[in-house]
Amino acid sequence: MANQASQVKMKLRKNDTVRVIAGREKGKSGRILRIDRAKMRAVVEGLNMVKKAVKQKKQNQKGGITSVEAPLPVAKLMIVCKKCGPTRIGYVVDENGKKRVCRKCGGEV
Ligand SMILES: [Zn+2]
Repeated sequence: MANQASQVKMKLRKNDTVRVIAGREKGKSGRILRIDRAKMRAVVEGLNMVKKAVKQKKQNQKGGITSVEAPLPVAKLMIVCKKCGPTRIGYVVDENGKKRVCRKCGGEV
């Protein structure tokens, strides 16, 4: 009997270009800065900015409000293929091991 439990795999990696497919930032894209595998979230450069209060640490540093990227659920992100745009990821195995490929054009992503 096959195990029917669907395993959620993290297909995205740091520095991947992704498009947001749902939520407040829908339609925007950016580069992944950080991935939290345990929480299935990724921080994308310039996206999902939230205001954050910062304390003054040094004399010449201004305290106040700054904007930082808040993590986005990876379920709302889609990898962007250089040729086709947002796409799904497939895997091919060759002599070098497993490769991530674009499901539309077959190109490596
Ligand atoms: Zn493609």
